[in-house]
Amino acid sequence: MDNTFIMAGVMGWPVAHSRSPIIHNHWIRQHQLRGAYGLFPVEPHNLGDAIRGLKALGLAGCNLTIPHKVAAMSYMDWVQPLAQRMGAINTIVVQADGALHGFNNDGFGYLQSLRDAQPHWRADAGPIVVLGAGGAARAIVLSLMDEGATEIRLINRTFGKAQALADEFGTPVQAFDWSERHAALAGAALLVNSTNQGMHGQPELDVQLHELPMTALVSDAIYVPLETPLLAAARQRGNATVNGLGMLLNQARPAFHAWFGVMPDIDDTLVKALTKTL
Ligand code: NAP
Repeated sequence: MDNTFIMAGVMGWPVAHSRSPIIHNHWIRQHQLRGAYGLFPVEPHNLGDAIRGLKALGLAGCNLTIPHKVAAMSYMDWVQPLAQRMGAINTIVVQADGALHGFNNDGFGYLQSLRDAQPHWRADAGPIVVLGAGGAARAIVLSLMDEGATEIRLINRTFGKAQALADEFGTPVQAFDWSERHAALAGAALLVNSTNQGMHGQPELDVQLHELPMTALVSDAIYVPLETPLLAAARQRGNATVNGLGMLLNQARPAFHAWFGVMPDIDDTLVKALTKTL
């Protein structure tokens, strides 16, 4: 019998709110593996020591959440090219020789959440409007580009950040002023909210949907609440919607596979267990 006990976890500061233990420990039980996934509260000045400790403690790796996703990159022996373009990692995998490899699975999670909702979804179906230009936007825009998006209208409250991303990523990303967010929805096939507006404790996103085609898919990176005011408004006028829970669940799958050797699925029991905590 294989007596290997595999451990992983998430480093963040604060980290108590993270839902990742629910997800990974569900899969550990489901696949009858010997292992555990824990919460690691790591203050920013301790990040280097904590990451080096992964190898010393024999952990399989860890996830990274706020505020460590960018700083952690400098401690890696190798960073996945996609994560380098995103400028952030959310997963570390300790290799057999102790080398630390960094990955970013947020874009994979986002694309998979769209496909779970609409199996025939295509990135090149028409113009895409992305609101926001922070960390989530970087992952979402790059993954949409790699998937063949032909036109991405990037709109952010601070125009300079949208312009900087458009300059960095090049065609097909074009920056628009925040004042153009309502009109820029004309002809769009996909609308994405990657701002924090509409999240629990934040005001709702200020965008009017009347220019948005009824055929457009509307997605929100936010998962607390599950249905943001944006998604409720889109659903009420007849648009298909995708919430941020699928992105969270799907980004966890490749990390679990790398640490535990099984590519897990998202089942109803897991979705129910998570939804209860939201
Ligand atoms: P971030 O880097 O801090 O970016 C925040 C974005 O929100 C910026 O574009 C910011 O615009 C915009 N914003 C803030 N206040 C605003 C306001 N009053 N009006 C308009 N825009 C405003 O955050 P992030 O990491 O990208 O996360 C963004 C959201 O995505 C969060 O709600 C987070 O929970 C969610 N998220 C979900 C997942 C998932 O797995 N589902 C993963 C990552 C993130 P400025 O540039 O003008 O400040």
